[in-house]
Amino acid sequence: MGRPPAPQAVVLSVGSELLAGETVDTNAAFLGGRLRDLGVDLTEVRQLPDDRAVLAAAFRQAGGAADIVLVTGGLGPTHDDLTREGLADALGEKLAADPVLEDELRERFGRLGSMPATNLRQAMRIPSADALPNPIGSAPGWWLDRGTEAVIALMPGVPSEMRRMFDEQVAPRLAGRLGPVPLHVRTLKTFGIGESAVAELLGPLLEEPGDGVISGIYARDDGVHLRFTTREDPAAVDAAAARVRQVMGDRLWGEDGDDLAFVALTRFAAAGCATVASWEADTGGALLAALSAATPTGPAASYVGGVLDSGGAPAAPAADGCVQLSLLPEDSRGRSRVRVAVSGRVAVPREELRIHGSGPQRLRRAAFAALDHVRRSLPPG
Ligand code: AMP
Ligand code: MG
Repeated sequence: MGRPPAPQAVVLSVGSELLAGETVDTNAAFLGGRLRDLGVDLTEVRQLPDDRAVLAAAFRQAGGAADIVLVTGGLGPTHDDLTREGLADALGEKLAADPVLEDELRERFGRLGSMPATNLRQAMRIPSADALPNPIGSAPGWWLDRGTEAVIALMPGVPSEMRRMFDEQVAPRLAGRLGPVPLHVRTLKTFGIGESAVAELLGPLLEEPGDGVISGIYARDDGVHLRFTTREDPAAVDAAAARVRQVMGDRLWGEDGDDLAFVALTRFAAAGCATVASWEADTGGALLAALSAATPTGPAASYVGGVLDSGGAPAAPAADGCVQLSLLPEDSRGRSRVRVAVSGRVAVPREELRIHGSGPQRLRRAAFAALDHVRRSLPPG
């Protein structure tokens, strides 16, 4: 059964600070996830310096190789932001001030004081580019669709501006241009078992997950995730997921958008706790962060807050249930353990659990270990 090949994309992240290791290229990571959800194959990510000639050459090359070119960065007002110039050179077009963009910029600065002359550069446009509005910053984006070649989007480097512009402006245009590309994805989330142990348990299921299905295994702070993707029959993904459920049993805590903190709050509710608090020692507030980020809806207990302690007696907001977590000092071989207990109206055994990782990751994993312990100890109801 033939299917049309997936469209291919290249992401170009512009900014010398990316190459100097001063800024991590989180824009490319965000776009990678979004493109996957759109069913587009991201074939390459490049970090490029703020150099007009290098940029022009890279745009030419990417435009010839891909269907979609997504560019972030280098749209600022100062002389070192050269993305517009580089693309104009690559396409052989001339930059000219766009009076509409200029008015919008002046209006934006009118609210903030007078506009620096250098900002006028952000009103420059080439004839084949449509401007993309940037409601939270001064740099408009560009959208180029010349019909026969790659479509190109230029977006600001500031991550919040880029994300909003991608979701509100670029993604709908991409979908309109490419038509629907069906992609079926299923993610299964486990806890308390390492990546290689999962791979060994599942064996052939990961290597040959079914006709047209691609599998992936990813170690995250909230456990090892398995992902099955297909552009063909979604039933093949369902079948792979069913076999994983069978093999992983109670190690599996959720699927797709599920959140471990939310799962734990749901278990509390099923056990008769309407409210939950937390107390934690030496975890930098990781448990509080995880629990407050879960937005309880429907059948979950509500999280009323927590305290951070470093040695004092447990004292937390009054609640039906309270998760208590302390991170024990690393042993001489750098291994960490956490002590987890639950007080209140539910009976949960105290437990000491091994955790892996270092730095902030070690703290987040400690919190997830506590939440997973709650999940395993309290029935789903
Ligand atoms: P620019 O649009 O080049 O003026 O970028 C503005 C700011 O956004 C830079 O100073 C960086 O802090 C940030 N930034 C630029 N590119 C990226 C990127 N690829 N990932 C994360 N942050 C970025
Ligand atoms: Mg820059």
